[in-house]
Amino acid sequence: MNRESHRRLKADLIAVVGEAAVISDPRRLLVYECDAFTLERKLPELAVLPADADEVKAVVDICRRHETSVVPRGAGTSLSGSTLAVSGGVMIGLSRMNRILRLDAANRRALVEAGCVNAWITREARAQGLYYAPDPSSQSACTIGGNVATNSGGPHTLKQGVTANHVLGLELVTLDGNRHWLGVEPEGGEPVGGYDLRGVVIGSEGMFGVVTQVLVRLLPLPEACRTFLAVFETVADASRAVSAMICAGIVPGALEMMDRLIVQAVEAAWRFGFPCDAGAVLIVELDGSETSVSEQAERALAICAAHGSRETRTARNESERERLWRCRKRAFGAIGRLSPNFMTQDGVVPRSKLPEIMEFIAAVGRRYELRIPNVFHAGDGNIHPLILYDERDPEQVRRAVAAGHDILERCLALGGSVSGEHGIGVEKIALMARQFSPADLEAMKRLRTVFDPEGRCNPGKMFPGGGGCAELTFRKQIAV
Ligand SMILES: Cc1cc2nc3c(=O)[nH]c(=O)nc-3n(C[C@H](O)[C@H](O)[C@H](O)COP(=O)(O)OP(=O)(O)OC[C@H]3O[C@@H](n4cnc5c(N)ncnc54)[C@H](O)[C@@H]3O)c2cc1C
Repeated sequence: MNRESHRRLKADLIAVVGEAAVISDPRRLLVYECDAFTLERKLPELAVLPADADEVKAVVDICRRHETSVVPRGAGTSLSGSTLAVSGGVMIGLSRMNRILRLDAANRRALVEAGCVNAWITREARAQGLYYAPDPSSQSACTIGGNVATNSGGPHTLKQGVTANHVLGLELVTLDGNRHWLGVEPEGGEPVGGYDLRGVVIGSEGMFGVVTQVLVRLLPLPEACRTFLAVFETVADASRAVSAMICAGIVPGALEMMDRLIVQAVEAAWRFGFPCDAGAVLIVELDGSETSVSEQAERALAICAAHGSRETRTARNESERERLWRCRKRAFGAIGRLSPNFMTQDGVVPRSKLPEIMEFIAAVGRRYELRIPNVFHAGDGNIHPLILYDERDPEQVRRAVAAGHDILERCLALGGSVSGEHGIGVEKIALMARQFSPADLEAMKRLRTVFDPEGRCNPGKMFPGGGGCAELTFRKQIAV
């Protein structure tokens, strides 16, 4: 974009949202040059922070007139580079649109703005005996709009499902400037008939338009809850205990695994008292009625013992339970103790293949001479190997990218998927063609054109051949 076009675009945006809500200074734009996938970086031309859906519509109209691409952005916690401004353009940050508009306890729903932080909903609903189930480990920062766009999961989605299972309806502003309400209306009942366009938008990674409001389902808080830590000598033993619990018909609210390296990092950072010499620990949470929780906890503890757990610790009260979860949810943050940079992979394998993929990850670490700690949603077979590297060493970067690629290829070979919850973004574009046939990819692209015929909304993501700096750099790294 030349200087004059940039000046006119900026002036038009300021006329709608005010000077303070348009960011053009390159130093302030640095915040928006990447998300939590830090391997690729690119500055947008401008970032704009609308205050409500009317302003989003006006911003989108201006961008259309200026033939500029837009990138919606929540908190920027994406781990796959899905907010990267591949072709510059205008980044639309939803951070000012963060209100809970209505909490309807009688109908167990909440209407929130897209920039509302995930954890705020449960914090507000708890007083009414309700909660919002999907709880990404980033929930103290990530937004509902970002959760919708990536169909986020989290530790507690093993039993309750992912974002798609808890979003009743949403408002989408498409790049032609139209506002559409999709799914259940804020005041309405379940729509019957017609295509589920709400479902299509969930997981579309900001490529269909800007989500401005979301109507979410709330669940009653469980009557009882039991959380315990089981300590194992090896990841393989812990993995077999996971499969055995599910096989026995126990469906824990959450079933998370942390291996030795990640436990050591967490302990070095926060001293939670986790055993640093353990091969792996499981955090198991059971919820439901008091009777069923007691009965299931007894069986789950017996299964852990039968699979070689050397110790179990049950949280005696809510503060001990919270402490266990703090440890798990702060795990990524602790990695700074181990390495200047890390890349979080997000693959899925059938649960029964967990021991095999964990052995494979260890072998990949040895092959590429990289450390790869693991912390993940074991109950879902959703692995998160954290590949440690130092971005100042191009050779290490190349090995880290290749290691991630090998792990995800292996997930596919084992009958799994290249993403469980973090989406494709720019990171996994090359792998889309490994997971889907050309006909499938073509159908997805055609679907996108229904919402965004010009491909101006978050371009350069998800599909091979979409171009953009990110895909090119990334391909180069993998090819080396
Ligand atoms: C420490 C850590 C732990 C994590 N744990 C989990 C986890 O347990 N489970 C999980 O699923 N993910 C996890 N993530 C990944 C990330 O938090 C999720 O993908 C989250 O949903 C992103 O939300 P966000 O608000 O940060 O969105 P962003 O990162 O800002 O954006 C993500 C995508 O959503 C689009 N988007 C954002 N807002 C809108 C909107 N209003 N309208 C349209 N599109 C929009 C963007 O264009 C982009 O494509 C974790 C990340 C970190 C850093």
